[in-house]
Amino acid sequence: MQTYWSSMAKRATPYVPGEQMNEKYVLKLNTNENPYPPSQAVIRAITEAANTDLRRYPSPDPEQLRELIGKTYDLTKDQVFIGNGSDEVLAFSFMAFFEPGETIRFPEITYSFYPVYAQLFAIPYEPIPMQADLSLDIERFFHSEGGVIFPNPNAPTSMAIRIEEIRKILEQNPTRVVIVDEAYVDFSTKSAVSLINEYSNLLIVQTTSKSRSLAGLRVGYALGNEDLIQALIQIKDSINSYTLDRLAIAGATASFFDSLTTKDNIKKIIQTRTWVSEKMKAYGFQVLPSETNFIFVTHPKVSARQLYAQLKQRQVLVRYFNQPTISQYLRITIGTDKEMEQFFKRLDQVIKSCHRLG
Ligand code: PMP
Repeated sequence: MQTYWSSMAKRATPYVPGEQMNEKYVLKLNTNENPYPPSQAVIRAITEAANTDLRRYPSPDPEQLRELIGKTYDLTKDQVFIGNGSDEVLAFSFMAFFEPGETIRFPEITYSFYPVYAQLFAIPYEPIPMQADLSLDIERFFHSEGGVIFPNPNAPTSMAIRIEEIRKILEQNPTRVVIVDEAYVDFSTKSAVSLINEYSNLLIVQTTSKSRSLAGLRVGYALGNEDLIQALIQIKDSINSYTLDRLAIAGATASFFDSLTTKDNIKKIIQTRTWVSEKMKAYGFQVLPSETNFIFVTHPKVSARQLYAQLKQRQVLVRYFNQPTISQYLRITIGTDKEMEQFFKRLDQVIKSCHRLG
């Protein structure tokens, strides 16, 4: 076995995504998808792009979309890189900015794709322990040998650090790139985009998968200094000229033309998050202060693993992480109000049966 595998293929330990059960009756609150559909304008643009032009390659450089995303954040097109989902943008960023043999740092509790990329690209890493309340220990990210990456807000903890703290991390790593993964930032107020023109070592990665309801389209992007963007283009063009297909370019362009639907959906999700958090507390859960489209919760009396299993039996999927520090927590995606009411009906049964058992 593995006779013909390269050392890279051998050392790879792939990321395991959340279960995808697409049966209609399953309440799927485990992969932080947006419960609301993208706008009709997006669907129309994709449908219109599904024409005979598909025989032609897409543009290797979707300039119009780069320009449009740039405009959205008061940046130029040369400060924008677009890729096939932010996972791809992150992978390219590891290749472009981190060096094999130089230790990078990321939080101990964070997006589990980071150690996967580090291992694949032979980049050593130091997981930085969390503070007691699971927030980031800022000073431990200072003076990193190889660079820094963290999500803000963090996943799965749902909590964000302030822009002033990001500024400190940037200033204390002047010769290294600091990547801020803002996959969930639209559900928060703490984007570091305003720091891009001030710090040439800041790379921000965002996605259309969460706030823009386009996880199925696979469009993510990086924002940063022109020189950083050029490095990402260099890597991409050495691997695949056409990472974005015609339908993805059309759909993402329509999404950035019409941000109203997105803004509306974000508002609804934040409102739902507020009442859901309060109701979870009434059930005795501790709920970390969320700035994302999910909550991270723990119950002092009921085991998280047991809760996860019992919810699953009742066709509710949430995310359980079998790892130290957070093995007593569950990550629950915020759905529509109606979905969350159903969630509470089933949770109520589970809690009652757990108490009976306990
Ligand atoms: N970063 C974080 C923190 C995430 O949780 C996710 C989604 N799993 C991603 C990046 C990747 O998102 P996508 O590839 O869909 O853009």
